[in-house]
Amino acid sequence: MTIKGDLLYASASDSGILKKGECGGAVTAILKNALESGIVDAVLAVKKGYDVFDASPVLITNPEDIADTAGSLHCGTLLIPKLIKKYLDGAEGMKIAVTMKGCDAKAMYELAKRGQVNLDNIYMVGLNCGGSVSPMVGRDMITEVFEIDPDTVVKEEIDKGQFIVETSDGQHKGISIDDLEDEGFGRRDNCQRCKTKIPRQCDLACGNWGVIGESAGKATFVEVCSDKGAELVTSAESNGALKTEQANEKGLMIRSKIEGAMFKLADKRREEQFAKMGSGKDRLDFIMKETSRCIKCYQCIENCPVCYCIECSSNEGHPVPKGQIPPPFTFHVNRYSQIADSCINCGQCQELCPMDIPNSLYMHAVQIEMEDMFGYEPGVNLDLPVIALAEEPAKCSK
Ligand code: FAD
Ligand code: SF4
Ligand code: SF4
Ligand code: SF4
Repeated sequence: MTIKGDLLYASASDSGILKKGECGGAVTAILKNALESGIVDAVLAVKKGYDVFDASPVLITNPEDIADTAGSLHCGTLLIPKLIKKYLDGAEGMKIAVTMKGCDAKAMYELAKRGQVNLDNIYMVGLNCGGSVSPMVGRDMITEVFEIDPDTVVKEEIDKGQFIVETSDGQHKGISIDDLEDEGFGRRDNCQRCKTKIPRQCDLACGNWGVIGESAGKATFVEVCSDKGAELVTSAESNGALKTEQANEKGLMIRSKIEGAMFKLADKRREEQFAKMGSGKDRLDFIMKETSRCIKCYQCIENCPVCYCIECSSNEGHPVPKGQIPPPFTFHVNRYSQIADSCINCGQCQELCPMDIPNSLYMHAVQIEMEDMFGYEPGVNLDLPVIALAEEPAKCSK
């Protein structure tokens, strides 16, 4: 029987899932069993859409459809918890198993503490995450640096620090992510700053780091982070869907070394990226200049997991007048003031901004300063944020 705290190598028993899975298909096997055994009513996973750059969320109720979601999509930058809030009533009426990266896990916690999702009904199957690549940047990067037509790419993977693509005519090409980032491509800026590499907030944290020896490439390292996670693994194993063994001691050490190295790199990237904005008045000038091209499309608000009001106060005519484009700086200040302490650095407000305004960069920088001041770190547990201590108006309901 699996218990909270177990560190396992796991792989699917079914040979089809084993082959299709990114690293042995443990996640797919666990999700399929959760649905078949009635632990959950539905699975929310991510599936290749039009091509490898198009990661589409999919809600599955037929266990036979789960195998189609196997594999990792590194251009899958979508944020899943807000979809659960918006379209699935916050999982109020159904039990759902969901795959998620670290930023998804943090978003889920921030939504849960604001009463927007029901965590009791959600099984969080976490994926370790070294970073994701914006789909548009991915296409440009493959055209310009790989010198390959992105429409011919049938598979992409990240292995040993390289971004590797495979084309329909069997070509393989890998380039170091460090080199890609030096040329302005590679992982999203927020991913470069991210330190949630093994999402232990989830019920399970699954990844390939630390899988060595014969199991390398054929199994996933599963950290069992909660009793719900133990239930998922125990059930899959006892129903013959999953094979597990204790993780190798040396593998454990390697995994922790990699995590430490990723933290150091993220600290370096934070320093470099924050320094570009200057400090004090210079930073304010930088933000005002960047936001001056805003077209008030509301994408940064719509997709932020921390913004959840039905009627956005920026749309009431005061303090931001209606119909003014670009909006006055108060539009942005209003947004910043509501989420400053709770920004989880998910990057949505930057990636989806049609005017390429580096919103997430400022928000993350402000959040880090507030964390230093008040000690509140968003997304790691269910502690209330600093601003949530103020009474929310009634309109901020789901
Ligand atoms: P599978 O059985 O293949 O199942 C994978 C599941 O992941 C599927 O259910 C699918 O729906 C879901 N999924 C695919 N793409 C996404 C996405 N973009 N967002 C949310 N869900 C998704 N592991 C590491 O140890 N180190 C890393 O640096 C690392 N980086 C990753 C970066 C990304 C963007 C992703 C998606 C995964 C990363 N992983 C990393 C995890 C690893 O690639 C495997 O997903 C994990 O080992 C599970 O393998 P599996 O064979 O059991 O999964
Ligand atoms: Fe992964 Fe962190 Fe980027 Fe999210 S923000 S995709 S968890 S690296
Ligand atoms: Fe302005 Fe960009 Fe936000 Fe749209 S997404 S409102 S353009 S900052
Ligand atoms: Fe994510 Fe931007 Fe909201 Fe921060 S402000 S949580 S980066 S969408």
